[in-house]
Amino acid sequence: MADRFLAGQSLRSITKWLNEESGMPSPRAGRGTRSVWYPTTVKSILTSARISGQRAYQPTLRPGETEPPQGREILGPGNWEPIITPEETARIRAVFAGPDRRVGASSINLLSAIATCGRCGAGLVAGRHKDGRGGSGPNKRFYYRCAAIPAYPERGGLTVAGIALNDLVRDAVIARLAATELPATGESAGGVVGDAMGRITAARQRMEDMARDYGAGLLTRGEYHAGRTAAQHTVRDAELLLGKVNRGAALTGLPVGDEAALRHAWDVEWSVPQKRAILTALIDTLTVYPVPKGTNHFRPDRVQLIFKA
Ligand SMILES: [Zn+2]
Repeated sequence: MADRFLAGQSLRSITKWLNEESGMPSPRAGRGTRSVWYPTTVKSILTSARISGQRAYQPTLRPGETEPPQGREILGPGNWEPIITPEETARIRAVFAGPDRRVGASSINLLSAIATCGRCGAGLVAGRHKDGRGGSGPNKRFYYRCAAIPAYPERGGLTVAGIALNDLVRDAVIARLAATELPATGESAGGVVGDAMGRITAARQRMEDMARDYGAGLLTRGEYHAGRTAAQHTVRDAELLLGKVNRGAALTGLPVGDEAALRHAWDVEWSVPQKRAILTALIDTLTVYPVPKGTNHFRPDRVQLIFKA
Protein backbone atom coordinates (compact mmCIF):
# COMPACT_ATOMS: atom_id res chain seq x y z
CA MET A 1 0.00 0.00 0.00
CA ALA A 2 2.72 2.44 1.05
CA ASP A 3 4.87 1.39 -1.93
CA ARG A 4 2.04 2.18 -4.29
CA PHE A 5 1.39 5.52 -2.66
CA LEU A 6 5.04 6.53 -2.73
CA ALA A 7 5.10 5.61 -6.41
CA GLY A 8 2.46 8.32 -6.85
CA GLN A 9 -0.74 6.28 -7.15
CA SER A 10 -3.93 8.04 -6.08
CA LEU A 11 -5.88 7.09 -2.95
CA ARG A 12 -8.72 6.17 -5.26
CA SER A 13 -6.67 3.69 -7.29
CA ILE A 14 -5.09 2.18 -4.16
CA THR A 15 -8.55 1.75 -2.62
CA LYS A 16 -9.76 0.08 -5.80
CA TRP A 17 -6.76 -2.25 -5.74
CA LEU A 18 -7.39 -3.15 -2.07
CA ASN A 19 -11.05 -3.92 -2.71
CA GLU A 20 -10.69 -5.79 -5.98
CA GLU A 21 -7.29 -7.43 -6.07
CA SER A 22 -5.39 -7.43 -2.80
CA GLY A 23 -7.60 -9.82 -0.85
CA MET A 24 -6.66 -7.79 2.24
CA PRO A 25 -9.55 -7.39 4.72
CA SER A 26 -10.33 -3.83 5.69
CA PRO A 27 -9.89 -2.89 9.37
CA ARG A 28 -13.67 -2.67 9.71
CA ALA A 29 -14.27 -6.27 8.70
CA GLY A 30 -16.01 -8.43 11.29
CA ARG A 31 -17.83 -5.61 13.02
CA GLY A 32 -21.05 -6.27 11.21
CA THR A 33 -20.09 -4.16 8.23
CA ARG A 34 -18.96 -5.43 4.87
CA SER A 35 -15.21 -5.57 4.42
CA VAL A 36 -14.85 -2.55 2.20
CA TRP A 37 -11.89 -0.18 2.01
CA TYR A 38 -12.56 3.54 1.78
CA PRO A 39 -10.04 6.21 0.70
CA THR A 40 -10.27 7.81 4.17
CA THR A 41 -9.26 4.51 5.83
CA VAL A 42 -6.32 4.17 3.45
CA LYS A 43 -5.20 7.73 4.17
CA SER A 44 -5.39 7.33 7.94
CA ILE A 45 -3.32 4.14 7.79
CA LEU A 46 -0.74 5.68 5.47
CA THR A 47 -0.23 8.74 7.65
CA SER A 48 -0.38 6.95 10.99
CA ALA A 49 2.77 6.94 13.10
CA ARG A 50 2.29 3.30 14.10
CA ILE A 51 2.82 2.09 10.55
CA SER A 52 6.50 3.04 10.92
CA GLY A 53 6.74 1.95 14.56
CA GLN A 54 6.63 5.45 16.01
CA ARG A 55 4.58 6.99 18.81
CA ALA A 56 2.13 9.74 18.01
CA TYR A 57 0.47 12.35 20.12
CA GLN A 58 -2.61 14.43 19.46
CA PRO A 59 -1.86 18.15 19.31
CA THR A 60 -4.47 20.63 20.45
CA LEU A 61 -7.23 20.95 17.89
CA ARG A 62 -8.95 24.10 16.82
CA PRO A 63 -12.73 24.15 17.20
CA GLY A 64 -14.41 22.16 14.45
CA GLU A 65 -11.33 20.11 13.62
CA THR A 66 -11.45 16.37 14.11
CA GLU A 67 -7.90 15.69 12.98
CA PRO A 68 -4.92 17.93 12.19
CA PRO A 69 -4.44 18.26 8.42
CA GLN A 70 -1.22 16.23 8.34
CA GLY A 71 -2.03 13.61 10.94
CA ARG A 72 -0.80 13.54 14.50
CA GLU A 73 2.64 14.74 15.35
CA ILE A 74 5.24 12.05 15.76
CA LEU A 75 7.04 11.80 19.08
CA GLY A 76 9.68 9.19 18.35
CA PRO A 77 10.28 5.45 18.32
CA GLY A 78 7.56 3.36 19.94
CA ASN A 79 7.15 -0.31 20.71
CA TRP A 80 5.41 -1.34 17.50
CA GLU A 81 6.77 -3.51 14.75
CA PRO A 82 7.44 -1.09 11.86
CA ILE A 83 5.80 -1.81 8.51
CA ILE A 84 7.53 1.03 6.70
CA THR A 85 10.48 3.20 7.65
CA PRO A 86 10.08 6.58 9.41
CA GLU A 87 11.60 8.15 6.27
CA GLU A 88 8.77 6.70 4.20
CA THR A 89 6.21 8.06 6.66
CA ALA A 90 7.88 11.47 6.34
CA ARG A 91 7.63 11.26 2.56
CA ILE A 92 3.98 10.14 2.68
CA ARG A 93 3.06 13.05 4.96
CA ALA A 94 4.94 15.45 2.71
CA VAL A 95 2.85 14.28 -0.23
CA PHE A 96 -0.41 14.87 1.66
CA ALA A 97 0.84 18.32 2.69
CA GLY A 98 1.73 19.19 -0.91
CA PRO A 99 -0.46 21.61 -2.87
CA ASP A 100 -0.60 19.25 -5.87
CA ARG A 101 -2.83 16.69 -4.22
CA ARG A 102 -6.33 18.11 -4.42
CA VAL A 103 -9.42 16.14 -5.18
CA GLY A 104 -10.36 16.63 -8.80
CA ALA A 105 -7.13 18.47 -9.61
CA SER A 106 -7.15 19.07 -13.34
CA SER A 107 -4.17 18.40 -15.56
CA ILE A 108 -3.55 22.14 -15.84
CA ASN A 109 -0.33 21.82 -13.85
CA LEU A 110 0.86 18.59 -15.46
CA LEU A 111 3.92 20.18 -17.05
CA SER A 112 4.47 23.25 -14.83
CA ALA A 113 8.20 23.65 -14.20
CA ILE A 114 8.88 20.43 -16.14
CA ALA A 115 8.54 22.32 -19.43
CA THR A 116 11.05 25.14 -19.85
CA CYS A 117 11.25 28.28 -21.98
CA GLY A 118 13.43 27.92 -25.09
CA ARG A 119 14.29 31.61 -24.96
CA CYS A 120 15.44 32.11 -21.36
CA GLY A 121 15.43 28.66 -19.74
CA ALA A 122 12.85 29.47 -17.04
CA GLY A 123 10.28 26.85 -16.00
CA LEU A 124 6.88 27.46 -17.61
CA VAL A 125 3.81 28.06 -15.44
CA ALA A 126 0.16 27.32 -16.19
CA GLY A 127 -2.51 29.96 -16.78
CA ARG A 128 -6.01 30.29 -18.17
CA HIS A 129 -7.47 32.64 -20.74
CA LYS A 130 -9.71 35.01 -18.81
CA ASP A 131 -12.30 35.39 -21.54
CA GLY A 132 -13.04 31.66 -21.42
CA ARG A 133 -12.17 31.07 -25.04
CA GLY A 134 -12.94 27.53 -26.14
CA GLY A 135 -14.01 24.45 -24.26
CA SER A 136 -15.33 23.90 -20.79
CA GLY A 137 -14.65 21.73 -17.75
CA PRO A 138 -11.56 21.52 -15.60
CA ASN A 139 -9.13 21.83 -18.51
CA LYS A 140 -10.89 24.82 -20.05
CA ARG A 141 -8.56 26.51 -22.50
CA PHE A 142 -5.32 26.87 -20.65
CA TYR A 143 -1.77 27.61 -21.63
CA TYR A 144 1.75 27.42 -20.29
CA ARG A 145 3.76 30.59 -20.28
CA CYS A 146 7.11 32.00 -19.35
CA ALA A 147 6.19 34.38 -16.52
CA ALA A 148 7.41 37.97 -16.76
CA ILE A 149 9.57 38.98 -13.80
CA PRO A 150 10.48 42.68 -13.51
CA ALA A 151 14.05 41.96 -12.34
CA TYR A 152 14.68 39.73 -15.37
CA PRO A 153 13.81 41.65 -18.56
CA GLU A 154 14.72 38.66 -20.75
CA ARG A 155 11.87 36.64 -19.23
CA GLY A 156 8.26 36.46 -20.30
CA GLY A 157 6.27 36.57 -23.50
CA LEU A 158 6.39 32.95 -24.57
CA THR A 159 3.13 30.98 -24.43
CA VAL A 160 2.06 27.60 -25.71
CA ALA A 161 -1.33 25.87 -25.85
CA GLY A 162 -1.64 23.70 -22.71
CA ILE A 163 -3.78 20.80 -23.91
CA ALA A 164 -1.80 20.42 -27.12
CA LEU A 165 1.48 20.30 -25.18
CA ASN A 166 0.03 17.87 -22.60
CA ASP A 167 -1.18 15.59 -25.42
CA LEU A 168 2.13 15.70 -27.27
CA VAL A 169 4.06 14.78 -24.12
CA ARG A 170 1.53 12.06 -23.20
CA ASP A 171 1.92 10.40 -26.62
CA ALA A 172 5.72 10.58 -26.50
CA VAL A 173 5.91 9.20 -22.95
CA ILE A 174 3.49 6.35 -23.65
CA ALA A 175 5.44 5.43 -26.77
CA ARG A 176 8.61 5.49 -24.67
CA LEU A 177 7.11 3.32 -21.90
CA ALA A 178 5.60 0.92 -24.45
CA ALA A 179 9.07 0.29 -25.87
CA THR A 180 11.09 0.27 -22.66
CA GLU A 181 12.16 -1.93 -19.78
CA LEU A 182 12.13 -1.01 -16.12
CA PRO A 183 15.37 0.38 -14.74
CA ALA A 184 16.98 -1.90 -12.19
CA THR A 185 16.32 -0.75 -8.63
CA GLY A 186 19.39 -0.89 -6.43
CA GLU A 187 19.33 -3.20 -3.44
CA SER A 188 20.75 -0.48 -1.22
CA ALA A 189 18.11 2.11 -2.20
CA GLY A 190 16.51 2.08 1.27
CA GLY A 191 19.74 3.01 3.01
CA VAL A 192 20.50 5.75 0.51
CA VAL A 193 17.04 7.27 0.95
CA GLY A 194 17.31 7.23 4.76
CA ASP A 195 20.74 8.79 4.59
CA ALA A 196 19.63 11.56 2.22
CA MET A 197 16.50 12.30 4.30
CA GLY A 198 18.70 12.52 7.40
CA ARG A 199 21.01 15.01 5.74
CA ILE A 200 18.07 17.17 4.59
CA THR A 201 16.58 17.22 8.09
CA ALA A 202 19.96 18.09 9.66
CA ALA A 203 20.63 20.87 7.16
CA ARG A 204 17.16 22.38 7.69
CA GLN A 205 17.73 22.28 11.45
CA ARG A 206 21.11 23.96 10.96
CA MET A 207 19.48 26.73 8.91
CA GLU A 208 16.94 27.35 11.69
CA ASP A 209 19.65 27.39 14.34
CA MET A 210 21.75 29.83 12.32
CA ALA A 211 18.78 32.11 11.71
CA ARG A 212 18.14 32.21 15.45
CA ASP A 213 21.82 32.85 16.24
CA TYR A 214 21.96 35.57 13.59
CA GLY A 215 18.83 37.14 15.08
CA ALA A 216 20.44 37.04 18.54
CA GLY A 217 23.60 38.71 17.23
CA LEU A 218 25.78 35.62 17.67
CA LEU A 219 26.62 35.42 13.96
CA THR A 220 27.69 38.18 11.57
CA ARG A 221 25.69 38.68 8.40
CA GLY A 222 28.59 37.21 6.38
CA GLU A 223 28.85 34.12 8.56
CA TYR A 224 25.09 33.61 8.42
CA HIS A 225 24.95 33.84 4.63
CA ALA A 226 27.95 31.53 4.14
CA GLY A 227 26.48 28.96 6.50
CA ARG A 228 23.04 29.17 4.98
CA THR A 229 24.41 28.76 1.44
CA ALA A 230 26.35 25.64 2.49
CA ALA A 231 23.24 24.16 4.09
CA GLN A 232 21.16 24.94 0.99
CA HIS A 233 23.74 23.11 -1.17
CA THR A 234 23.52 20.11 1.14
CA VAL A 235 19.73 20.05 0.80
CA ARG A 236 19.87 20.40 -2.99
CA ASP A 237 22.44 17.63 -3.41
CA ALA A 238 20.45 15.28 -1.18
CA GLU A 239 17.24 16.07 -3.09
CA LEU A 240 18.96 15.37 -6.41
CA LEU A 241 20.06 12.02 -5.01
CA LEU A 242 16.51 11.25 -3.84
CA GLY A 243 15.21 12.07 -7.32
CA LYS A 244 17.55 9.47 -8.83
CA VAL A 245 16.73 6.78 -6.28
CA ASN A 246 13.00 7.36 -6.69
CA ARG A 247 13.18 6.84 -10.43
CA GLY A 248 12.67 3.12 -9.99
CA ALA A 249 9.82 3.73 -7.53
CA ALA A 250 8.01 6.05 -9.96
CA LEU A 251 7.99 3.35 -12.63
CA THR A 252 7.23 0.38 -10.38
CA GLY A 253 3.94 -1.33 -11.16
CA LEU A 254 3.36 0.44 -14.48
CA PRO A 255 2.15 -1.75 -17.36
CA VAL A 256 5.40 -1.10 -19.23
CA GLY A 257 5.36 -2.53 -22.76
CA ASP A 258 1.55 -2.55 -23.03
CA GLU A 259 0.53 0.53 -24.97
CA ALA A 260 -3.24 0.10 -24.59
CA ALA A 261 -2.95 -0.39 -20.82
CA LEU A 262 -0.60 2.59 -20.53
CA ARG A 263 -3.02 4.82 -22.44
CA HIS A 264 -5.95 3.70 -20.31
CA ALA A 265 -4.00 4.27 -17.09
CA TRP A 266 -2.89 7.72 -18.24
CA ASP A 267 -6.43 8.78 -19.12
CA VAL A 268 -8.43 7.44 -16.17
CA GLU A 269 -6.20 5.97 -13.47
CA TRP A 270 -3.08 7.96 -12.73
CA SER A 271 -3.22 11.14 -10.66
CA VAL A 272 -1.46 14.32 -11.74
CA PRO A 273 1.27 13.86 -9.07
CA GLN A 274 1.87 10.32 -10.28
CA LYS A 275 2.12 11.47 -13.89
CA ARG A 276 4.53 14.19 -12.84
CA ALA A 277 6.65 11.61 -10.99
CA ILE A 278 6.70 9.45 -14.13
CA LEU A 279 7.56 12.41 -16.36
CA THR A 280 10.35 13.52 -14.02
CA ALA A 281 11.75 10.00 -13.99
CA LEU A 282 11.78 9.79 -17.78
CA ILE A 283 12.32 13.28 -19.15
CA ASP A 284 15.71 14.94 -19.26
CA THR A 285 14.58 18.21 -20.89
CA LEU A 286 11.29 19.50 -22.34
CA THR A 287 11.86 22.81 -24.10
CA VAL A 288 9.30 25.02 -25.84
CA TYR A 289 10.72 27.41 -28.45
CA PRO A 290 9.19 30.78 -29.44
CA VAL A 291 7.13 31.27 -32.58
CA PRO A 292 7.06 34.33 -34.84
CA LYS A 293 4.61 36.93 -33.53
CA GLY A 294 1.04 36.60 -34.70
CA THR A 295 1.12 32.84 -35.06
CA ASN A 296 -1.21 31.35 -32.53
CA HIS A 297 -1.35 27.75 -33.67
CA PHE A 298 0.34 24.96 -31.83
CA ARG A 299 3.27 23.58 -33.76
CA PRO A 300 4.89 20.33 -32.61
CA ASP A 301 8.23 21.47 -34.01
CA ARG A 302 8.36 24.15 -31.30
CA VAL A 303 8.78 21.42 -28.72
CA GLN A 304 11.99 19.55 -28.05
CA LEU A 305 11.63 16.54 -25.75
CA ILE A 306 14.78 14.69 -24.67
CA PHE A 307 14.44 11.52 -22.60
CA LYS A 308 16.94 10.41 -20.01
CA ALA A 309 19.25 7.67 -21.22
ZN1 LIG B 1 11.39 32.74 -21.15
